[in-house]
Amino acid sequence: MSKKAELEPCARCSKLPHENDVHCTDCGAPLQNRCSDEHGLLKKGCSYVNPRTAAYCGKCGEPTVFQLHGLINPAYETANKPAFLWKRT
Ligand SMILES: [Zn+2]
Ligand SMILES: [Zn+2]
Repeated sequence: MSKKAELEPCARCSKLPHENDVHCTDCGAPLQNRCSDEHGLLKKGCSYVNPRTAAYCGKCGEPTVFQLHGLINPAYETANKPAFLWKRT
């Protein structure tokens, strides 16, 4: 086994991604647990890449994309959630 890239299987469906994939090609789940605080016009954003088990960004405290995609259930409900997450799915 070569170890040129540390590719981990998809957190939702366990499919192994290709080297440069950012999202799973089977289920669309993000492959990196980035901070959801995206770069925008008025903010710098964070985009910190967190461990796969992180429900919240270790750098700024915003939810991670794994949590937003339902791949991680946070241990604690928090007022830090963006408003669009409050509605029931
Ligand atoms: Zn997948
Ligand atoms: Zn962050």
